[in-house]
Amino acid sequence: MAKLQRGEGEGGDLEKLRKGIAESYDESTGAWEELFGEYIHRGFYDTPSAAPGAAPLTALDHRRAQLRMIDEALAFAGVSDPEKKPKKILDVGCGIGGDTLCLAKKYGAQCIGINLSPVQVKRAQELAQAEGLADKVSFEEADALNQPFPDGQFDLVWSLESGEHMPDKEKFFSEMARVAAPGATIILVTWCHRDLSPDEESLRPDEMKLLNKISDAHLLPAWCSAADYASFAKSLKLEDIRRADWSENVAPFWSAAVQSGMTWRGIISLLKSGWKTIKTALAVSLLIEGYNKKVIKYNIITCRKPK
Ligand code: SAH
Repeated sequence: MAKLQRGEGEGGDLEKLRKGIAESYDESTGAWEELFGEYIHRGFYDTPSAAPGAAPLTALDHRRAQLRMIDEALAFAGVSDPEKKPKKILDVGCGIGGDTLCLAKKYGAQCIGINLSPVQVKRAQELAQAEGLADKVSFEEADALNQPFPDGQFDLVWSLESGEHMPDKEKFFSEMARVAAPGATIILVTWCHRDLSPDEESLRPDEMKLLNKISDAHLLPAWCSAADYASFAKSLKLEDIRRADWSENVAPFWSAAVQSGMTWRGIISLLKSGWKTIKTALAVSLLIEGYNKKVIKYNIITCRKPK
C-alpha cells in the first residue's frame, strides 16, 4: 500500500478541519445550488470534449450529466438490477441530499444522509419535504469517520465526492464497511491521487507540491490512490472489488464550473457567499492543473460485503 499523501495545511487538528469543512459548506452551498442545483458533484460525459464544431454544452446538459453520474455509478456496481433493489441506503457526505433523494425515488428505499454542515442538513430536509419524501429520507449532522449507526445496517452505502475531505481514508472506508449489512454494496466515487507504479514509494516532489496547494485551498487533508482503496477493501475481506478511472468522463465539467462562475449570476452568487467560497472558486484552476497533469484522478471503487 502506498503511503498517504498528507496536505500540510491541516496538520493533525481534526476538530479544526471538521469545523472548517462545515463552515465552508455552510457558506458555499447556496451559490452551488443556484449554479448547479442540488448535486454537489461532477457530471459524467461520453467524451472529454465536444466534437469540433459541436454546439457548446448547456447548463441543462451539465445537470443531466450530474444525474447520469448517479446512474453510471449504480450500473458499474451492478445495483441497477431491479432484483437487487436496496431497501436501506446510507449517503455518506450527502451535501443537500440530491443523491439521497434520487436514490430514495429510484428504489423506494429508506435513506439516511449524513454530513458535517448544519446549513446543508437543513436544506436537505427542506428539499425532502418539498418532494414529499420526508417519511422515506432523513438527514443528520454526523462524522463519516465515526458514524452514529450500529454495525450491519445498510444494504447500499454510497459516497459521492465526499471521500476527498476525509483525513483518514482507511478509517473512512472501514466505517462504510462496518455499517454495511451482509451482502450490501459499497459505492465510492472520489478524487484520488494517481496509482503509484511498483517502483515508487510516493508521488514525485513536484506532484506533492501541487497536491499540498490543492489540499490547502479545498480542505482536502489527505490523499490516497484508488489502488489504496482497493487494498483497504481487500484487507476488510470485502468481495467483488472493482474500480475505474473516470477522469476523462468528468473532464467537460471543469469548463462548465469555470463558465458558470464567470457569468453575472455566478459572480453575484459567489460574492453573496463570502470570501471562503470565492477563495475556493479561484483555486479551481489548481484542481484543473492536477487533473491535466494526471496527478489527480476521478475514480469509482465498488465492492460487496460478504453474506
Ligand atoms: N455527495 C454530495 C455532496 C458532495 S460535497 C453530492 O454528490 O451532492 C461533500 C460533502 O461531504 C459535504 O456535504 C460535506 O459536508 C461532506 N463531508 C465532508 N467531510 C465529512 C465528514 N468527515 N463526515 C461527513 N460528511 C463530510
